[in-house]
Amino acid sequence: MFSSHKLPMFLLALLTACCLSSMAAEVNRTISVYIMTDMEGVAGVLDFEQWTSPESRYYDLGKEFLTLEVNAAIEGFARAGATEFLVADGHGHGAVNPKLLDARAQLARNWAPPPYPFSMERGMTFCAYVGQHAMSRTEFAHLAHTGNCGVFETTINGRPVGEFGEGTLCAAQLGIRTIFASGDLALTKEAQALVPGIETVAVKRGTTPGRGDECDKEKYAKRNLGAIHFQPERARQMILAGAEKALRRALADPSMGAVPLKPPFERVTILRPQKELPKRIGRSSHPDNFISLMNAPMKYETMK
Ligand SMILES: [Zn+2]
Repeated sequence: MFSSHKLPMFLLALLTACCLSSMAAEVNRTISVYIMTDMEGVAGVLDFEQWTSPESRYYDLGKEFLTLEVNAAIEGFARAGATEFLVADGHGHGAVNPKLLDARAQLARNWAPPPYPFSMERGMTFCAYVGQHAMSRTEFAHLAHTGNCGVFETTINGRPVGEFGEGTLCAAQLGIRTIFASGDLALTKEAQALVPGIETVAVKRGTTPGRGDECDKEKYAKRNLGAIHFQPERARQMILAGAEKALRRALADPSMGAVPLKPPFERVTILRPQKELPKRIGRSSHPDNFISLMNAPMKYETMK
């Protein structure tokens, strides 16, 4: 038994010991960041035609711009204490240049079915996005689309989500918090709406008003081409600072970047008309696992 006047001293010693041991655990802890990448949300990537496909005139330059943005994010996370980085090359044609990629990173590519969650694994500490664009139907979004320009909209339990949302909910399923996103201004707003408090950096802003709901696939791909960009080097400085701040905030606040999941899950995807095909709708559902939902086959039928 402790006498009453000794109890405060004992508690103080206990608290000090606990604090020191948790600080030691923090110092020794591996902090890993999974970085999902895309090309349409990169500063200096001006349109689809000239920039985002292998036959595009500036494809290699666009890959360089993305890879250097990724390196800026890695440097920012590293300054805040991150030690491991898995970079997922998420652009359809690929957009990370391995030769230019920061040597501290590993690179993931090859999405053999089932694709989701794109090499993300339980146990990784945080998830982040670089070069991401906004979802289909977003106003003032540069090069907006969800997967491809043929998708009109995807909803999860009635809420529209884009590529950012799909990946962020996969991360949540694996217990991983999403703490940072860079891309165009519309994407940063989309990210903040889904993940309140997420750190974001807008490297450009789209200038096309309206949602483009009247467009078929081909028209939508030519629609959201206008934007005002930060110079790529400046954008990288902003990304470096944003990534560092994101990780510092996330380490200080265990709720930062956490997204609650609310199963059961229903996914509805509506496709724009394309060539001879009409507007179509597909659905899938899963009782408890968001990743399984995203990998479930979709059957599409004509919308009435
Ligand atoms: Zn994309």
